[in-house]
Amino acid sequence: MNPLYEQMKTSVFERMSNLAVERGAVNLGQGFPDFGWPEEILDAAANALRDGSNQYPPSRGLMALRDAVATHYNRYQGLSLSADHVCVTSGATEALGAAIFATVQAGDEVILLTPAYDSYAPMVRSAGAIVREVALQPPGWRIDAAALEGAITPKTRAIIFNNPHNPAGRMFEREELETLARIAREHDLIVISDEVWEHVVLSDQPFVPLSSLPGMAERTIKVGSAGKIFLLTGWKVGWMIGSPELAAVVARAHLFINFSTPPNLQSAVAFGLEVGEPWIAAMRPRFTRARDRLVGGLRDAGFDVIGGEATYFVCVDLAASGIAMDDESFALAAVEQAGVAVIPLSAFAADDPPRHLVRLCFAKKDETIDAGIAAMARAKELLG
Ligand code: PMP
Ligand code: GLN
Repeated sequence: MNPLYEQMKTSVFERMSNLAVERGAVNLGQGFPDFGWPEEILDAAANALRDGSNQYPPSRGLMALRDAVATHYNRYQGLSLSADHVCVTSGATEALGAAIFATVQAGDEVILLTPAYDSYAPMVRSAGAIVREVALQPPGWRIDAAALEGAITPKTRAIIFNNPHNPAGRMFEREELETLARIAREHDLIVISDEVWEHVVLSDQPFVPLSSLPGMAERTIKVGSAGKIFLLTGWKVGWMIGSPELAAVVARAHLFINFSTPPNLQSAVAFGLEVGEPWIAAMRPRFTRARDRLVGGLRDAGFDVIGGEATYFVCVDLAASGIAMDDESFALAAVEQAGVAVIPLSAFAADDPPRHLVRLCFAKKDETIDAGIAAMARAKELLG
């Protein structure tokens, strides 16, 4: 057996969701909406299932979806993409895996900015490469040029970057992107840029794709997900974008991980990207209201809350909220005794992670948010 998998706990998302179901708790842990997916896109999928092909599509994706993804980014992010830059994958998770396997070899080093989404490190290690963590410091979570440069060695091959950032709930500033880009150019690194949260930006700042910075298009593999754009997290339709040369190599890794992604869901996502502008525009006010409801309720209950500028997550600082417990103990006690599931942030780093923060998801109906706030208030009474 491979000790990497033999010794691993299940994912923190799976663990907390299972506990929430077992205990009948409100689930503000794993990030998935409990409202609001577009009916027209579901109809498009149902029609494609009945009337379209149910056999293997081309490995790189239906041309209609590859074209729709390229057109979408050209329109929203001013990129100059064509279908040659796109490979459709089974969710962003598969795109990340394929990007890692395609670019990294045994013995290479890969930098992760922690807290880092949980799939990155196991995939890097499966490729035989070494994870180098660079810790972003709460509550600002800013990129520190000296810390990043200090982690680079002659063996460094890639940086895995996530913007907007899960679980911090922030979008990096242009100056931070420029720092990262400069370092990548100077050290000739690939950047795998996980931009799945690109449309869930709740501030007035525009989202800037990393590949749009000078000298970055040829070294950036951008990762996106329809699950996040259309609130359909279970569909697992994602993609990676790169220069035609990079995309061709990542597409070969994808050949042997999953080969292809269900064609009917691909058709429906292509349709969604073509007609989805009002849908995407509605996301910001809808999530802003949800965030304000959750943050307001938590603050009224005496919690110190950070983040909420992007993604659909905020973090509670336990220490600053008068709770002298580590995040993992709090998360277990909260789901078992107070009836609310949250995500402990220490799951997102291996080297000395912060242990005073938990993440809460606000992509929920008002009643779910209100029940979550009431349960968090109970947790504070019981555990504070
Ligand atoms: N990266 C990040 C930062 C995420 O938050 C998520 C899902 N929440 C993913 C990747 C995985 O996306 P998918 O479900 O499309 O595989
Ligand atoms: N990305 C989701 C989150 O951050 C979880 C996805 C999963 O469970 N694999 O909550």
